[in-house]
Amino acid sequence: MTARVLDGRGVAQAIRAEVAAEVAALGGRAPSLVVLLVGDEAASAVYVRNKAKAAEQAGIRSRVTRLPGDTTTADLLAAVAGLNRDPGTDAILVQLPLPPQVDAVQILEAVDPGKDVDGFHPLNVGRLAQGRTGFVPCTPAGILELLRRSGIPLAGASAVVLGRSGIVGRPMAALLLAAHATVTVCHTRTRDLAQVTRGAEILVAAAGRKALVTEEHVRPCAVVIDVGIHRVESEAEAIDLFGEDAGRLDEIRRKGATLVGDVHPRRVREVAGWLTPVPGGVGPLTIAMLLRNTLDAARARGGR
Ligand code: NAD
Repeated sequence: MTARVLDGRGVAQAIRAEVAAEVAALGGRAPSLVVLLVGDEAASAVYVRNKAKAAEQAGIRSRVTRLPGDTTTADLLAAVAGLNRDPGTDAILVQLPLPPQVDAVQILEAVDPGKDVDGFHPLNVGRLAQGRTGFVPCTPAGILELLRRSGIPLAGASAVVLGRSGIVGRPMAALLLAAHATVTVCHTRTRDLAQVTRGAEILVAAAGRKALVTEEHVRPCAVVIDVGIHRVESEAEAIDLFGEDAGRLDEIRRKGATLVGDVHPRRVREVAGWLTPVPGGVGPLTIAMLLRNTLDAARARGGR
């Protein structure tokens, strides 16, 4: 058996088109998103650029405020406070990771919960934990949309979330629970990981470990969502991960690397029923949900 592809890119495009249509129908002032980017980490700069471009395409005004790498917690708190007060800013996103001298917890707690489109403020985290509405972190929110729109039954399903970070694992578990799945969360201290994950009809892999999930972790016909993003630079490794995939080898030759997730694609696709690709699975959904959250923030603030 070969797993069917869960098309994150297609679902993300649909969500973006819906947001764009709703923004156009709002009339008046376009929703506005401000991204705070501290330092000059290359990966963060790429993510921020992609977010800004997607926002623009949906008719959302976006602005990136750049702060130097030696910014202090106090400087960043002042920047956040300014945006909280600014009536022209609907949505604030603090790009992570922050440099080590900045207290990230303090910064995320300082963002106005009504403008917190990343859903990291304790008030929004608490609302999610209580099963109430609020801003939900974009990656798990996107995964839930993908499952729903792909017709995967959630109520009563056994779901295992691999990873317990505040960005992915924990909010993912809360969302699946709210959708009436029976949820287990695994982490580095979980004993006999494969035995636990093999119980999953829905497995969300967000451990941040390259190709950790293999056929021994996956129940036959399971739905497997791969959140991880890792670079593969060696052709031998690419052949192990993807089989004889000319496209991947070509990408390594042209760009120096291709991407793989937390799931070993060649080994897992023989067992799983559905699998998200990397790239083109979870990544595009994260951006689409940021646009959705920004529109929701603007609506809630403007009574629109
Ligand atoms: P993290 O490092 O903060 O958390 C990883 C979690 O996995 C931890 O809770 C840890 O206990 C658990 N874990 C690690 N190794 C494990 C193991 N061997 N067995 C069991 N549990 C293990 O990572 P994160 O921020 O949640 O991100 C996870 C991955 O998802 C990363 O590769 C990241 O790059 C990627 N990511 C992708 C997107 C996207 O849009 N596609 C968004 C966010 C994160």
